[in-house]
Amino acid sequence: MEHISNLFGLDRASLRSLFDGLGEPAYRAQQVYSWLYEKRAPSIDQMTDLPRALRERLAAAHEVRWPEVMERAHSVDGTVKFLFKLDDGATIESVFIPEERRRTICISTQAGCPLKCAFCLTGIGGYKRNLKSWEILGQVAVVMADHPLTEARGIHFRAPNEAPWNIVIMGMGEPLLNYEATVASLRILMDREAFAISPRKLTLSTVGILPALEKLMLEPVRPNLAISLHASNKALRRELMPIEDRYGIEEVIAAARRYPIPSGGMVTYEYVVLGGVNDSPAHARELVRLLRGSKGKVNLIPLNPAPEIPFAPPTAQAVDEFCRILAAGDVTVSVRRARGQDILAACGQLHLKREAAPAPVAS
Ligand code: SAH
Repeated sequence: MEHISNLFGLDRASLRSLFDGLGEPAYRAQQVYSWLYEKRAPSIDQMTDLPRALRERLAAAHEVRWPEVMERAHSVDGTVKFLFKLDDGATIESVFIPEERRRTICISTQAGCPLKCAFCLTGIGGYKRNLKSWEILGQVAVVMADHPLTEARGIHFRAPNEAPWNIVIMGMGEPLLNYEATVASLRILMDREAFAISPRKLTLSTVGILPALEKLMLEPVRPNLAISLHASNKALRRELMPIEDRYGIEEVIAAARRYPIPSGGMVTYEYVVLGGVNDSPAHARELVRLLRGSKGKVNLIPLNPAPEIPFAPPTAQAVDEFCRILAAGDVTVSVRRARGQDILAACGQLHLKREAAPAPVAS
């Protein structure tokens, strides 16, 4: 059988050379680009402003394909976890999180994760591979199509009067270890003629892979940045995050301070709070000293527990006190509320293989 290639995931330049090869004018590439990423047509057949003959010619060797949804798990709080099965059998997860004023999609960039942070279920599950651009963008397309703003003739259009989409690259994997596919996806997500996600509504979370972070700073359009810190000093961070040996906490913070955030926003420093490990007043004071003078804000994330995670959540008092010390030290701080815990969709609970994940706990 002839090889059928996926149009979804191709950027403008690739579409242009494809149509060039077919002897078609450049504006056809632009039409298809818009169908793929602005109108998000699920098939070539629905690209109705292309002549039927051209659609048939295209369909002989190409298709539009998003990752296959294996399962949707619905949380009592409205959060939906999507489990996707990829062509090689790898599984990845995305999470849809409805909020009052926005709707967040949390997406993955790798199947599994090689970083092995001690408190994260994805790392404990192991690493399989980098995702391709179409697999990254496809998660967004599937979730958006599942929660359409306005539906017209089976194709989903954006409507400005609805809660805006917010996208966080905080699912499985380390995005800056999959730089090319991640940045190619970011460009299409932020392109006004494609998904049109405002850079302020797109956040990339990373442990701080320094050479890649430096490259990202040079991109003409950049997303918000969240840095996974999780410790207030090098020794503690090394215990929790093996990557500390390659890219140290001080260097990572120094790079983050130079990161040009969209519209003068702030870098977020994520801090998973582990009961009795990194949650003492002394840690909080150390964190104040570490971040002094930086424009960043700290997001405290009380540990989302799972049987395989060898840590316990902090007490509410410890989090309050930690928060109070940061605020008193002039560090902007917030506490993240866990969503979708009952379906293991909360931060750090995304797992490589569904079969290996513990049974969902009733809430
Ligand atoms: N590799 C990137 C992207 C993954 S984001 C990064 O580390 O930033 C995943 C976020 O989930 C991390 O910031 C981490 O703070 C958080 N996380 C991981 N395990 C967690 C857990 N068990 N409980 C709460 N948050 C967790």
